[in-house]
Amino acid sequence: MRRFTVYDTLSRETRLFVPLVPPKVGLFVCGLTPYDDAHIGHGRIGVVFDSVARALTRWGYRPFYVQNVTNIDDRLIARGAESGTNPLVLADRHFLAWTLAMRELGVTSVNYYPHATDFIPEIVHQIQSLVERGFAYPASGSVYYEVAKFDRYGRLSGQKVEELRPGSRADVEPGKRAPEDFVLWKAARPGEPSWDSPWGPGRPGWHIEDTAITVRLFGPRYDIHGGGLDLKFPHHEAEIAQAEAATGEAPLVNFWMHAGLVSIAGEKMSKSLGNSVLLQDGIGTFGPMAVRFYYLNAHYRSPLDFVGGKSLEEAKVAYERLAGPFDRISEILARDGLERSGRDLPPDAARAASSCVEKLDEAMATDFNTREAIALLFGWSKAMADWIPHVESLSGSALAALGAPYRWGHEVLGLFRTDDSLPGGELLGRVVAVALEARARARARGDFAEADRIRDALGLAGLAIEDEGDRSRWHARAGNPE
Ligand SMILES: [Zn+2]
Repeated sequence: MRRFTVYDTLSRETRLFVPLVPPKVGLFVCGLTPYDDAHIGHGRIGVVFDSVARALTRWGYRPFYVQNVTNIDDRLIARGAESGTNPLVLADRHFLAWTLAMRELGVTSVNYYPHATDFIPEIVHQIQSLVERGFAYPASGSVYYEVAKFDRYGRLSGQKVEELRPGSRADVEPGKRAPEDFVLWKAARPGEPSWDSPWGPGRPGWHIEDTAITVRLFGPRYDIHGGGLDLKFPHHEAEIAQAEAATGEAPLVNFWMHAGLVSIAGEKMSKSLGNSVLLQDGIGTFGPMAVRFYYLNAHYRSPLDFVGGKSLEEAKVAYERLAGPFDRISEILARDGLERSGRDLPPDAARAASSCVEKLDEAMATDFNTREAIALLFGWSKAMADWIPHVESLSGSALAALGAPYRWGHEVLGLFRTDDSLPGGELLGRVVAVALEARARARARGDFAEADRIRDALGLAGLAIEDEGDRSRWHARAGNPE
């Protein structure tokens, strides 16, 4: 497992990452409240933490990546009432659109999307523990967390409780002991979806689902919690207070990773401010890879100022420039396979390729610096410029070596789609090359029965082999068996 550092918002330090139970890594990221279509700002969280999980996997860790879905809350209930739709159905619809957008963006690493309403027993159980331990109190069918009882409250956001008071207005609810106390269980109003509880019918508050889910899935402590910077307070502060008080174990999370927000002219992008651009529109107009590139071409902790379509247009142009040389290599390899004959690379060029891959890992291992990684890839593209006029003369292995930094970009950053450009996939090409080499050795020692057996076995797997002198070519036969 490769060593790497990550900036932890709670300790305000960049520290060496050490998993609680290597090689496993519990990774939880605050997901969406699907009451409306996702905008460009939401997509950033999905792509950033997908790259984090991809890097962990590459380095030998086994991330278990969970992103929750808040499928019941005030906004969903309000939207449902406006449109005469069950809020749970409304949430399902938007969640489906979200998963489709994530698939287009190449977000492949989320293992599980738990929905809040699938964890009602865990939520009720955690609230009960908090009441029993004296951190929460029931009032008029609701239950509140008593912030004054948890002395570490405010450490993550670095503020004092008095400063965190949300003011005197709408937030004052009957039975609350202090304005900063937050709701764990909300008594049902007529017509709202509700679940039974020891305090009467109601539904979970916003913060409690996260910790009920993570204690259930990861236990009282886990490795990484991610989310947008805007969730630090009060949401993540509340999570720490809930879980650490309920389980008696601390810290809840070893590393808090907060991603910068996407803003427009300095203002947070949000539906309510009327300045948002829909994620689906961005993907539809500029292509998913341009959108993905746009997110990753900034450090994840930096704010990203979105200048409308211009930002994505620039990202598209830059991405296409970056991907150009790799597309050229992929085309040739897709046509001829890795075994194509030709010139090999001079040793210094081959060394430069592997040193570039090492630098890419190093950039990612330094607080997931995707911006630096993309700069390195641009550097490699520039170095490649000398080779591009001669690519047709190069051997399969020379082309593969030149493509190595891009394959890293594919694996970790999720850029440079190869699945469409290489029929059967690149991995298949490499595996077939091993089989063909074994067959060539069998023929060389006169063992034609073994050579024929390998050819027939590849044939049964749906690959046709053609011999040309002492070289063999392969292609997938039409009507491939499953
Ligand atoms: Zn959350």
